Amino acid sequence: MAAQADTLDIDNLDFDPDALRRRYDHERDRRLQPRGEDQYLETKGDYAEYFDADPYSGEAPSRGPLTLTPDVIVIGGGFAGMFAAYRLLEAGFDNLHIVESGADFGGTWYWNRFPGSQCDIESYCYMPLLEETNYMPTQKYANAPEIFEHCQRIARMFGLYEKAIFQTRVEAVDWDDRTSRWTVRTNRGDDIAARIVVSATGPACIPRLPDIPGIRDFKGHSFHTSRWDYEYTGGDSSGNLDRLHDKRIAVIGTGATAVQCVPHLGRSAKELYVFQRTPSSIDIRGNGPTDPEWANSLPAGWQKERQENFNDVLTGQPFEVDLVNDQWTAVFRSMKNVFFAGEGDAVEGAAREELERLNEIADFDNMNRIRARVNKLVQDPAIAETLKPWYRQFCKRPCFHDDYLPTFNLPNVTLVDVSDSYGVERITEDSVVANGKAYPVDCIIYATGFEISTSYRKRLRYDVNGVNGQSLYDHWKDGRRTLHGHSSHGFPNWFLIGATQVGVSANYSSMVDEQALQIVYILKELRERGANSVQPTLEAEDDWVRVIKQSAQDVSDFFDACTPGYYNNEGKHRESTAAFIDAYSPGVNAFNRLLQEWRGKGDYEGLAFR
Ligand code: NDP
Repeated sequence: MAAQADTLDIDNLDFDPDALRRRYDHERDRRLQPRGEDQYLETKGDYAEYFDADPYSGEAPSRGPLTLTPDVIVIGGGFAGMFAAYRLLEAGFDNLHIVESGADFGGTWYWNRFPGSQCDIESYCYMPLLEETNYMPTQKYANAPEIFEHCQRIARMFGLYEKAIFQTRVEAVDWDDRTSRWTVRTNRGDDIAARIVVSATGPACIPRLPDIPGIRDFKGHSFHTSRWDYEYTGGDSSGNLDRLHDKRIAVIGTGATAVQCVPHLGRSAKELYVFQRTPSSIDIRGNGPTDPEWANSLPAGWQKERQENFNDVLTGQPFEVDLVNDQWTAVFRSMKNVFFAGEGDAVEGAAREELERLNEIADFDNMNRIRARVNKLVQDPAIAETLKPWYRQFCKRPCFHDDYLPTFNLPNVTLVDVSDSYGVERITEDSVVANGKAYPVDCIIYATGFEISTSYRKRLRYDVNGVNGQSLYDHWKDGRRTLHGHSSHGFPNWFLIGATQVGVSANYSSMVDEQALQIVYILKELRERGANSVQPTLEAEDDWVRVIKQSAQDVSDFFDACTPGYYNNEGKHRESTAAFIDAYSPGVNAFNRLLQEWRGKGDYEGLAFR
């Protein structure tokens, strides 16, 4: 289904943009709270169990400390780490190890096994290395077990298991100028001296908890969605949570994770209470099996082409065919129809402000459709009203689901609106308290997200001490500083893959492969020259920070107007280095081209080899 805005007549709107803008501002203002990211608790210290627990593999088998002198240590075995290791091995960097806290590869897909978990980007774009592994996903949006199995397939095919050090966490890396190596300290007491460190820890790996008064007092069961306790709930990621038939369950949070697991909880729990602070926008999913005839017809190079096409649609670039053609692209196409006059030409001479105004109107129109969908799917008008999102769609990760909204028609499911009190008020020994009322429950499931755009110390969770022992977090205290997102002055041979100061995409895999290629390109030169180290010059770092700051201005106004969330650092993006404000705003395709052109020049501009 195409967005209404495909046929939007902007001169005869059937809604009042000013009224909507006022409503959005009002909804944002009552959610903005002074605590910003401090409203969340880190899952360490008293709360370490929510991070350390591995319900899938149990406690790590004991082993003695390892003594290793690898060329490369890759930290993290999720998509980013796997791409890095794959590209490094391809380039002949055989003396490498991958340190991973899980007991297998997969990262996000190792940890996030909650019922209903599924990729929300089309799997033909999202699942890595499909052509290289000769694998075709079974559905347009693959379920979590299939993605996890695919990670295992990649690891088997490309020799990553031989390089893995599982169930081990890096705690610190310290640069030793004398030996030009990083001392890598782990929680297993390992003695590792690596020439190069590639940090690939991913955005959705470190769960966080809400700092709700009394959270420690609860005597029932509780867990975070990324450590799903099937022992307690029964069933598996396809649902059938049969041990919940006599249980009262609270879910705190209604982001992308809750949207996928709530339908299963609603089906199985005796009583389900969903505590909602801000509703997600829930668009059509429309999943379906892969057509084998289509799959067989794909020419070589199809996956990259598809990924780039998806990114083009999402960044308003001209494209001939929308290959993915789902609700993600429909929404962006609807904006493009306003931006571009028919044949893909930009509206003649239109000022930037005018384009932004038109874009906002297309967004209003689309969100009207999404709100109307709530009315169609939810029987009780008061509940439907509470489930309606009042913000621009990309203030939060858009969600796509066909069963989430109808779950609130079930008699055992209660939606509790906690928007008036900055969230759940209190937790007691046996209840969740909201709006002055106690809801007695047996189990609390925290769907409260991850350290995605919080400060880097929280996100990386390990110390990085560079030349003269300088901490990376001190170097970045006034904002992150990198060259092209991959490295920082004063931290030789330390590389980062992720969402920092790079082109970002809703499709994470299309970001990390190019970053891995860039790092490998630099490391090949390091090897070729027989140099000890490479790092960006201060000037090159300054230049790139300037580019990124300019980019940030492009999106700052948008995020000012947004309801709080991790995209805008809970409404404090101007005083912080939140991920989306720290990105290269022309987008991932433009960023990838910029890297390719940089490599094409072959002069390693901005890098100092020693
Ligand atoms: P989010 O950070 O998106 O959501 C956290 C939720 O917790 C929000 O609804 C938030 O409300 C709520 N919350 C926080 N504190 C309180 C409180 N004190 N009281 C009540 N509610 C509270 O986390 P998710 O795990 O849902 O998603 C994280 C990201 O992971 C997604 O955006 C997506 O990128 C990724 N993901 C991807 C999936 C996929 O299919 N590929 C599936 C699942 C997740 P508020 O909105 O008001 O802050």
